[in-house]
Amino acid sequence: MAVETLHGGCHCGAVRFEAEAERMAANECNCSHCAKKGFLLTFTPLDKFTLLSGEDKLTEYRFNKKVISHQFCSVCGIQPFGRGEMPDGTKIAAINLRCVDDIDLGALERTPIDGKNL
Ligand SMILES: [Zn+2]
Repeated sequence: MAVETLHGGCHCGAVRFEAEAERMAANECNCSHCAKKGFLLTFTPLDKFTLLSGEDKLTEYRFNKKVISHQFCSVCGIQPFGRGEMPDGTKIAAINLRCVDDIDLGALERTPIDGKNL
């Protein structure tokens, strides 16, 4: 799979981002939070992620161990991405592929993650 430049954002357009990430690698987690939001996530190092607009519109939600900063648009409620850390301390961005421009959701290779039992 190839890393490419992805563009995306929230529904109302306030939050826009650009990231170097794999478009086709979709992680589908069954934890209480991901399941409700229906996330299809791709992960990339945080320095490959750029927030282009909407910093002032983002609201943060943390739960459980509070290591992931879930950021959603305070205008339209959509969560295009989150910021977190791997167990080794590497900072990552988790991009919601459903918020990427012109993406073919049916073509994604979905990898299940058993977040519910982690
Ligand atoms: Zn919005």
